[in-house]
Amino acid sequence: MLIQHDVVIVGAGIAGLRAALEAALSGALDVAVISKLYPSRSHSGAAQGGISAALGNLEADDPEWHVYDTVKGSDYLGDQDSIEVLCYDAPRAIIELEHFGVPFSRLPDGRISQRRFGGHTAEFGKRPVMRACHAADRTGHAILHTLYEQCIKHNVHFYDEMQVLDLLYDKGDNAVAGVVAYDLRQGEIVAFHAKATLFATGGYGRAYKTTSNAFAYTGDGMAIVYNAGLPLQDMEFVQFHPTGMYRIGILITEAARGEGGILLNDKGERFMERYAPTIKDLAPRDMVSRAIYMEIKEGRGIGGKDYVHLDVRHLGREAIETKLPEIAEFVRIYFGMDPTDSLIPVAPTAHYAMGGIPTNNDAQVISDGQGTTVRGFYAAGECACVSVHGGNRLGTNSLLDLVVFGRRAGKHIVANVPAMKFAKLPKEPEKPLKDRFQKLLDRSDGGLVDPIREGCQKTMMDNVSVFRTEQTLKQGLADLAALKKSQRAARVLDKGRRMNTDILDCLEMGFVLDTAEVIAESALLRRESRGAHARDDFPKRDDVNWLKHTLAVRGEDGRPSFSYRPVRITRYQPQERKY
Ligand SMILES: Cc1cc2nc3c(=O)[nH]c(=O)nc-3n(C[C@H](O)[C@H](O)[C@H](O)COP(=O)(O)OP(=O)(O)OC[C@H]3O[C@@H](n4cnc5c(N)ncnc54)[C@H](O)[C@@H]3O)c2cc1C
Repeated sequence: MLIQHDVVIVGAGIAGLRAALEAALSGALDVAVISKLYPSRSHSGAAQGGISAALGNLEADDPEWHVYDTVKGSDYLGDQDSIEVLCYDAPRAIIELEHFGVPFSRLPDGRISQRRFGGHTAEFGKRPVMRACHAADRTGHAILHTLYEQCIKHNVHFYDEMQVLDLLYDKGDNAVAGVVAYDLRQGEIVAFHAKATLFATGGYGRAYKTTSNAFAYTGDGMAIVYNAGLPLQDMEFVQFHPTGMYRIGILITEAARGEGGILLNDKGERFMERYAPTIKDLAPRDMVSRAIYMEIKEGRGIGGKDYVHLDVRHLGREAIETKLPEIAEFVRIYFGMDPTDSLIPVAPTAHYAMGGIPTNNDAQVISDGQGTTVRGFYAAGECACVSVHGGNRLGTNSLLDLVVFGRRAGKHIVANVPAMKFAKLPKEPEKPLKDRFQKLLDRSDGGLVDPIREGCQKTMMDNVSVFRTEQTLKQGLADLAALKKSQRAARVLDKGRRMNTDILDCLEMGFVLDTAEVIAESALLRRESRGAHARDDFPKRDDVNWLKHTLAVRGEDGRPSFSYRPVRITRYQPQERKY
């Protein structure tokens, strides 16, 4: 089956919906969104703490301070021209969201409430600043639902529960003609033909055992692009959020510390005072996650174990119930304790992909280090790498990235797509995927997927997490190579055509392993410590050799091959990163 639309957007999270809305608002384009989940189940809906903009509603703020914080937070790997776009567009983007109908939390005088978040400061690092706009601690939920309503209102077509598994990329023409998807309900393979295709498929957190990410975070978009022969950028930078619920990984938003919560070790010490004397518990995530592991390593984890405590008791019941209601409920449900009178056990949890599909500031996918764009192909949101987050993303900057660059993608599409022709389709575009399905349905030997998933999650957690060395990374790569072999030979139990999530699990596992391999291999090559990439064997940042972006392309032998491109620096030369 073949379906045609001017614009096909893969992913119904905030990035995909914001792009779809912009394209649809023009009235001149026929826009479709494909999503493996029902749109409102996208992980964007789980975003808790807030979205940043220098509105200055409670205290003086300036977009330039936001730029500085983001550059410094990125450990100078972010492209500064892109960061300027992000931070200077933020106040407008928030007002626009409000006009779309997002129910932000309010100050008594009706303006949007703001709070502190890690790494966001006033006057170039002097003190924490209130920059995060929020809807209680359900900010993503509020934005996602509002954008979904707007998309429905503006006649965006939705294909829910369809999973994209192939990209129709012609390397010779350097152009994308659409995608191929599995329609879960009909059990059919469907090709989509589009003038513009946009990926907004989110991250790969499920590669790790402990993660804050939804089950659907299996790196599909990144792996599909990589397997089509296009590059992935800066994949070694994986963010671990410092405060996952111990053993479960579910997120306790950084807003808990933004509102005044503090971290304590076994001795009851507020240990962040030692690691970041100026902004303490509100240091960026890479630093706080490392500090927690240092405390644990030196025997100051709670009861000698591998976690520390988050203390919000002093905030008082009223503040907790009104500003952090969702996490209060999580703590009650999962730990059976009340955060108003108990300490919360926390440990770092795999949270966010800084790397991804490289794009320019209009969200056009680029195919090399010179910035050559792929015709008809865009990426936005967590699966993309503009790069505004560089080596380490600041909290609340992802939601901002989604709406700023999602909109820019939409604008670029509106300006260019009406004059474009459909790119040529390959003969029988669905065939390769149909064959893959058939092979899985026919195969009766081979192992099942579950142990492969467990193996991947364990080795990534043990070997490719907060601290890495050459030895752990090589171990990780050896494990992944063996797991890839098993995955290629795996079999499925469900032999039906409709709703075959068994086959999807198996294919998603392939995506996870491809992204995991690129993460580990990129990390092995980067012989320095920068942002979230901390090498025990190369503990210092090395700007002479490593102030550059990694580009990984799948080689002929199926393994990644690497090149690098320079970081774009406008106003802020790299300095030692102290907080
Ligand atoms: C628990 C949690 C809390 C967070 N809190 C914050 C916060 O407070 N502030 C902040 O700035 N950031 C926060 N983040 C990060 C931020 O929420 C995410 O980075 C962001 O929402 C990702 O949005 P997205 O639009 O890129 O993708 P998503 O919202 O994840 O959407 C991905 C979409 O792609 C679709 N999809 C994926 N693969 C396929 C496929 N193969 N075929 C078809 N469809 C596919 C999915 O169905 C889904 O619709 C948080 C993240 C988590 C996990």
